[in-house]
Order: sequence, then C-alpha cells, then structure tokens
Amino acid sequence: MDYFRHLSRRQYVWLGVTLLAAVLVILAGRFVNPQQIHNDRVDFTTDMSIKEMAPQLDVTGKALAREFELPLDVPKKRPVRDLGVNQAQLDHVTAHLLSHRPSVFKYFVFAAIALLALVYLLRLGRPDKSAGPGPNTQRLQYPHAVYVGVLIVAVVVCGFLLGKSPNPMEGVVKLFKSMVGLYPSVTEKVAAFTFFVALAIVGNKLVCGWVCPFGALQELIYSLPILKQLKRYKPPFAVTNAVRGGLFILMLLLLFGILGQRRGFVLYHAVNPFNLFDLSFEMVSIGVTIVVAIVLSLFVYRPFCTLICPFGFVSWVFERLSLARVRIDRDRCTACGACTTTCPTHAAADILNGKLLPADCFSCTRCLRVCPHDAIRYGPVFVPLSPSTAENKTAS
Ligand code: SF4
Ligand code: SF4
Repeated sequence: MDYFRHLSRRQYVWLGVTLLAAVLVILAGRFVNPQQIHNDRVDFTTDMSIKEMAPQLDVTGKALAREFELPLDVPKKRPVRDLGVNQAQLDHVTAHLLSHRPSVFKYFVFAAIALLALVYLLRLGRPDKSAGPGPNTQRLQYPHAVYVGVLIVAVVVCGFLLGKSPNPMEGVVKLFKSMVGLYPSVTEKVAAFTFFVALAIVGNKLVCGWVCPFGALQELIYSLPILKQLKRYKPPFAVTNAVRGGLFILMLLLLFGILGQRRGFVLYHAVNPFNLFDLSFEMVSIGVTIVVAIVLSLFVYRPFCTLICPFGFVSWVFERLSLARVRIDRDRCTACGACTTTCPTHAAADILNGKLLPADCFSCTRCLRVCPHDAIRYGPVFVPLSPSTAENKTAS
C-alpha cells in the first residue's frame, strides 16, 4: 500500500514503537482479566432470593427488584417465586443484567486502538516534511483507507467479538445509576466514566471518532463509496445538540425520581444500540433504534451520536479541554471553503469562524485531507502552528 511505502524512516520508528506499545497494553489486559467475564454462567432459579442473586449479577438488591418490576422495599431474602416471578421472567432479567457486566479486558483494547489513532493523527497521517523532499512529501495526507481499516477493527473487535459492555454510552449512564444505588460499587463506575472522558480530553473525541463500535458502524455506512452521489443533510447543530442535551437532562430527572414515579428508571435502555453487538434485542424500540440509525446514516452523519448518545453530549462538553485537536493555521488559510464543504458536521466551519462552542469534531480527518494550503492540522493545543504569528497563538 502506497501509504506504508511513503512513510519516512522516523515515521517507521513511531509506527513500530506504537504498535509495540499497543500490543503490550493488550497483553496487560489479558493479564489483568484472563477470563472473559461473559463466560461466567450461573443457573438462576426461582428458588433463589434477590439477596443471593444480586451480587452474582453485579447489581444491588434494589436494582434487581426494579428489574423484576417489584417495589424496591420487597423482602430480599424470600425466593423470588414467592414474589410472583416466574422462570421465563427470571431468565429474561438475568440475561439482560449479565449482558451488562463489563469485560475489563475491553478497556485495554479501547486504550490500544486510541493510542494508535492518536499517534496516526499526530505523527503518521501527514507526510514528514522534516525528512526532506522525496516520495514521502508527495503522498496523500491521512488516506481514508487507514481510517476505514481502524473503524472495521472497532466494529468487529470492540463490537461483535467483545460484546456490548463496556461501551462509552454505558460509561456515562452507569455512573448516574450507581448514584441512585443500582450498583454495589460507585468507584468502579467513576473509573469507567473517567477512562472514557480522559481519552476524549487527550485527543478530541478519540473515543467516538475511532474506538466506539456503534460510532464506527455509522461512520462506515456514511463513508460507503457507492453512496457518494447521495444528497447528504447537515442538520443545524443547535437543534441536534438541544435534542441530545434535552434527552440527557430528562434521563437524569427520571433516574433520580424528580420526574415520574419510578426512581431508577433509565430512559436510554429503550434505545441502546450497543445491543446489536450481543444480538440481543430485548425491546422492540432497541431494534427500531438500530435500524433507524443505520438507515439515517446513509443521509446524515452519525445520527445516533449527534441526536441521542449521552456520551456524545458529555464528550462534546469535555472537548473544550482537549489537548490535541483540529486547528486552523490562519497564516495559510485562504478561506477557500474546502474543509467546510467536506466536513460532515458544522465543526470545520465553527472552528474556522472561531466559535466558542463549535459543533462536535469527530477527528475523522476529512478536512485534513482536502486543504490545498495545508492550513488545517491536527495537533497539540499548546504548540503554536506558526510561532511567528501572534494571531495563531490566540485564534487557534
Ligand atoms: S456519540 Fe457515537 S461514537 Fe460516541 S459513544 Fe456515542 S455512539 Fe459511540
Ligand atoms: S472534517 Fe469536520 S469532523 Fe472531521 S476532523 Fe475535520 S472538523 Fe472534525
């Protein structure tokens, strides 16, 4: 492949060291979590009590009672049969809760892919101009095939092979669920939330743009070459973000019992598309969400991410702190509009116009590929793009 042939010697060193580091991260994950937690199967029967079952399902007694649609103060030591739970209902609830038990190993896989993505964005995507003239400087910037390759790995490995949990959406929702007593350990959920947010801060939406399996699936569908002629629609960011933020606030009000009668109710359960990766469609609404998101992805960029996903919203907030992100070199920019036309969201235009709260940038590299003046770059915010200009120090 041309891309690899045209890497400079220094870039080969970066690639080798990063691949080695990624492999070590994955091996560390196998060491920490030698067995897939999904394989822990227990036969649950209606003779068992909530108190016996809850620890094995990694939830509190209250959470399990809620899953059985029983009052939260129901006796927890009695066999669930006496509480009116039948075996079919028990099987359904336990299968659902077991599917939410996260594999610790998957965090290491997420970290390894994010590391590769970050080094690619910072060091390997652009020709290494310091290596002098030669084939390296003539090659394409950020070839799309590399991005597509990583997205396929994200869907296959972080999705279908490793299952739906953990995922960034749950990383947010479970933090708040633990605050209303639905999980025995708050610390574990804080750690998961911190992991995903930290990656979003290190590199702009590194999780959503490169690692999240459902984000990757939508991105792949939107990028299908056969659909290039389709007319694409960019909904106004103010509208999509208001819907996404509104749903997030509604989720919190329902979960904490400020609205409605069911404290602990999780709005997102009904629209969790990550179920696709376990092929478990417990509710009709989940199947509908997946189909609608996939079909809409033909015309609109990442509809689930921009309209519904709570991590999409939270990471958009934390994007303000990102240490590395897409930036504009105003000395070089001629405002030709190539980046804003190719950007699938309003992010490039907002960055160009210096908006305080720009639309989500998924670090998808499209704008980096098309700029004829090399004026748009992915880099650390603390390194001036053109040190000689005072403007860049403030504007980018
Ligand atoms: S916003 Fe999209 S890419 Fe990001 S976590 Fe949600 S589904 Fe995944
Ligand atoms: S094309 Fe848009 S979303 Fe993609 S990296 Fe550029 S600004 Fe971000």
